[in-house]
Amino acid sequence: MKVCKVSPKSKKQTYKTFTDKQNKLQSKKFASVHFNKRIVFAPHCMRNTAICIAAEKEGYYICAECGGCKINDISKLLKELNYHALYVLKGGRAIEKIIKEQKPAAIVGIACFFEGEQAFKILKDENIAVQFVPLTKDGCTTTDTNLKEIERVLKQK
Ligand code: SF4
Repeated sequence: MKVCKVSPKSKKQTYKTFTDKQNKLQSKKFASVHFNKRIVFAPHCMRNTAICIAAEKEGYYICAECGGCKINDISKLLKELNYHALYVLKGGRAIEKIIKEQKPAAIVGIACFFEGEQAFKILKDENIAVQFVPLTKDGCTTTDTNLKEIERVLKQK
């Protein structure tokens, strides 16, 4: 079982420096990928678990757009933009299985800085352009993110 930890401030800065650099390095390639070849990973800790009705799959959830958390807004925007899919991940282990099945050319990952750094490392040998958007409030539950920043990243082209 995944153990959720909030990283210390000093570590966060290291992860931030790494993920900022990767975002810059990969942004041009990401922008060249058609929206329908892109997928998005969001973390399960953003869900409002008191009311969430997302469909549970092995390793992830599919949001049912109940309006209970910001994943609802992200899901709706992705449909408007014609993105390929949104996966609400239970943990990083589902990433490899999903990319094997879906073969995306680009990924937007929303996560804490630690998970973001790990994801860039997992995907480093794949021919996939990755953009990372950090959570603005991390932890194990009721986490948060900046929707305007997500929208900016999603619309890059
Ligand atoms: S919007 Fe989606 S992920 Fe959020 S609580 Fe509702 S079904 Fe769950």
